[in-house]
Amino acid sequence: MAHIQRVTFKLNEVFYQKPFHITNSVRTSSKVIEIALELDNGLIGRGEASPSFRVNGEIETALTGLEGPISEMLRGKEVQRYRPLFDILDKFSRSAPSLKAGVQYAILDAFSTLISTPVYEILGGAKAYVETDFTISIDSLENTVQDAKKAAEKGFTILKLKVGEDLASDIARVLAVQEALPKMHFVVDANMGYTPKEAVAFAETMVRNGVNIDLFEQPVWSDHFDGLRFVRQHSRIPICADESAKTRYDALRLIREECVDYINIKLMKSGISDALAIVELARSANVGLMIGCMSESGLGITQSIHFASGTGAFTHHDLDCPFLLKEVIPYKYRQEGNRLYPNG
Ligand SMILES: [Mg+2]
Repeated sequence: MAHIQRVTFKLNEVFYQKPFHITNSVRTSSKVIEIALELDNGLIGRGEASPSFRVNGEIETALTGLEGPISEMLRGKEVQRYRPLFDILDKFSRSAPSLKAGVQYAILDAFSTLISTPVYEILGGAKAYVETDFTISIDSLENTVQDAKKAAEKGFTILKLKVGEDLASDIARVLAVQEALPKMHFVVDANMGYTPKEAVAFAETMVRNGVNIDLFEQPVWSDHFDGLRFVRQHSRIPICADESAKTRYDALRLIREECVDYINIKLMKSGISDALAIVELARSANVGLMIGCMSESGLGITQSIHFASGTGAFTHHDLDCPFLLKEVIPYKYRQEGNRLYPNG
């Protein structure tokens, strides 16, 4: 038996290789919170929160202030009985979801070390590795084509193109990349940037030009569920919720109201507990799943690699932080080309 003694946080910063530009946001760096969960036998479990103000409304300094309260809530609890601990952390589902994710993962990481079994096996051990796409943020047409060609040369078979700021230039960029790489498959992500009618116009242009769009992510504003359903009903490409799908209750509503074909799960929006619930909800409803990330370091992205490999639930993996950030040191994974192996 091993009991939790304390939880400590450390604020770090990660830096992008080039400015990351998506709808209404450009950033060169991002703050992350490294979490260490210490057991009374000296073992330490690690996790990471990659907070997002844009998606979750989270502010780093408010989150780091929760170090004492969370440590107190978990002190003396048995780490191997992790489900009730997840329930305690579910209280942070709206106020601090990324922190909930990192602490829940740190609990699993500690448990994993204690029983000498990697986290992805605790979660089911479904896949030996996952293959990630590569994201190209909003840039000039020339730079977009150049970045796409470079990614194709590196072996990426799916590119995620950021759109949503200007319909005409978005269409021009995607068509230019398709012309340069006619066999490439794409995920397009508008990050809530379009109106429903703009989104339908975009989707129709893609279909007319034979672009291989696997998924069209978050075309409209996150709270606009009717808009999502409108786009889905009037488009011939699969529609995927990202910013609209944070908790299990969001996912349940999206499914019940027939708004989407896919859901993009991110641990930083849902934590481990809601991510597990959304996996089962989606499977039950025949809704597809992709997994995405925020700005996790080598420690943070480990969490999603183990979750995705363990559950085997995803057809699309957008876990490309190791390729977009500077100085990424892998925690418990290894990388071979676009393949990410969980490695206990
Ligand atoms: Mg997205």
